[in-house]
Amino acid sequence: MTPTPSLWTAAIAAASLLPASAAAQRQVAGAPARSAPLANIRYEVTFDSTAAARRTLKVAVSFDVGGPGPVLLSFPSWTPGSYELNNFARFVGGFTASAGDKPLDWDKLDYDTWRIDPAGARTVTVRFDYRAETLDNAAAWSRPDFAFFNGTNLFPYPEGRGFTFPATVTVKTQPGWLVATGMQSAPAPGSYREGNYHDLIDMPFFVGRMDVDSMQVDGKWHRLATYPTGAMAGPARSLLWDQIEKMVPKMAAVFRETPWRTYTTLLVFTREVGGGSALEHSNSHVGIYNPGFIGTPLLASITAHEIFHAWNVKRLRPAGLWPYDYDEPQETPWLWVSEGITDYYADLALVRGGVVDSAGFLGLTGEKIAQVATEPETALEDASLSTWIGPIDGTQYQYYPKGSLAGFMLDVLIRDASDNRRSLDDVMRELYRSAYKKGRGFTAADWWPAVSRAAGGRSFTEFNVKYVDGRDPFPWSDVLPRAGLRQMSDTVREPRIGLATAQDSAGAIVVQEVQPGGAAQEAGVQAGDRLLALGDVAIMDPDFGTAFRARFGKNEGDSLPIRVLRGADTLTLHGVVRLIARVETRLAADPGASEKAGRIRHGIFTGAVEEKAGTVKGKK
Ligand SMILES: [Zn+2]
Repeated sequence: MTPTPSLWTAAIAAASLLPASAAAQRQVAGAPARSAPLANIRYEVTFDSTAAARRTLKVAVSFDVGGPGPVLLSFPSWTPGSYELNNFARFVGGFTASAGDKPLDWDKLDYDTWRIDPAGARTVTVRFDYRAETLDNAAAWSRPDFAFFNGTNLFPYPEGRGFTFPATVTVKTQPGWLVATGMQSAPAPGSYREGNYHDLIDMPFFVGRMDVDSMQVDGKWHRLATYPTGAMAGPARSLLWDQIEKMVPKMAAVFRETPWRTYTTLLVFTREVGGGSALEHSNSHVGIYNPGFIGTPLLASITAHEIFHAWNVKRLRPAGLWPYDYDEPQETPWLWVSEGITDYYADLALVRGGVVDSAGFLGLTGEKIAQVATEPETALEDASLSTWIGPIDGTQYQYYPKGSLAGFMLDVLIRDASDNRRSLDDVMRELYRSAYKKGRGFTAADWWPAVSRAAGGRSFTEFNVKYVDGRDPFPWSDVLPRAGLRQMSDTVREPRIGLATAQDSAGAIVVQEVQPGGAAQEAGVQAGDRLLALGDVAIMDPDFGTAFRARFGKNEGDSLPIRVLRGADTLTLHGVVRLIARVETRLAADPGASEKAGRIRHGIFTGAVEEKAGTVKGKK
């Protein structure tokens, strides 16, 4: 997953989360619950204009009952990759069960498990309505002409019977509306099939009006589906295709295989979100972005991150997430690898593919160093373990930038220890083969020895204690020169208003959160206010901050009238321009770097390693 990158605090994302429910408390004493055996499970989803008007997906689940006892159907409580409990059973309504025309008795066993008495029937159908109004890539959302949903939302599974059962999905929709998914087509029209439940619910759907096109990327079909129609067209669409074409082969080179049959990129553009976020799957990903992301390097970067996840976390995965358990939180200390190192490889895919130049790569890395420097100290493992409860102290998502930097450091140290003959790529490839390909998740006993082997036997015990399990600041003054890089810091003082905003569907800039102690809070700005003007800067679009900083950069302490629309009233609030100090960290190539450090720097930018000293071998 990639959390929304444009907000000043992760607290905004956290505020929208459900409280973590005490899932562990619900295990009723005695034997674990077990459904009667089911076979021939078929899910049918109807989304037409009538269902769309009610923001509802109509679902029917049919199956054959193969033994005595009640049928227990349970809904997942989370979607893998989105490490928070959502309890999708909340959105189920109008539940019925029947055998032919005969209604069947049902009740609930627990909050997300329905218990149905088949009364001797061989074939049973349950039906329910699912409210599709959650704009979150782990959830289901609809518009009058479109819906997306995840299998974790709509497809209950037989409790206690494992996840190896095959199933089909049939989507019924309005004539002329399209369906996009990574699922394999089945012979019947509108039908899809997967061999097990893990794969079934890892393949989200877009249904409705959308733009869809396909091309061959690295020898496999890649599909791009975007909503609403026309949102990503012409040069902007060509640009994203070009970036995907450049980046995917550089990612595949790390593992020396492209693991999917087809890959589907599913994108929603809406002003209901101020930033952007995306969620990975094994052969697709879903992104939800403000339209302002179209054509930006940030969209390419998040796209690279989600596609790299197809290798790193969907396949190469920590043992604590293998196999997925849809009923309970699965804590792991390894999200710094699964998310952070994925983010490092997204930056590498950008520079190795030529989407950004080396200065662009160093800019991204410098931003991560600066971001970590301003956030509370936390150990990578602790941030990873804690993400499930959404800590509000600013540490929740630190395993992204700090984990990415840990990956960068390991890459430099491995290249340094091996005279640039080995790299972090060797570690990723070795674990992909020794863990994922052997059908298991990786552990510390796999990871650290692989790192050590790549570095010619060097121990990383101290690295782990200090920088992964511990909170020591990263040793940039030692690591950067080994890659021919140096760090330069400038302190910039610039006006900050202290607001997080989003653009609503009418185009207004609406205050989402007011930063405590900031200029806006001092003036009395409230969440829900529509921002009209800051002094003489009229607020026309989400990027008003650039104009604001340019206009008031030299006006510390000056009066700042803030005009807002609150309800029907236009108010002028009396604020003051506040300049806030910010440390800007820049990385640059060191012109005085040693010959070896220069080779290492080149190796990071290109993916190259050396056979013998001085002989650079390109990795395709
Ligand atoms: Zn991610």
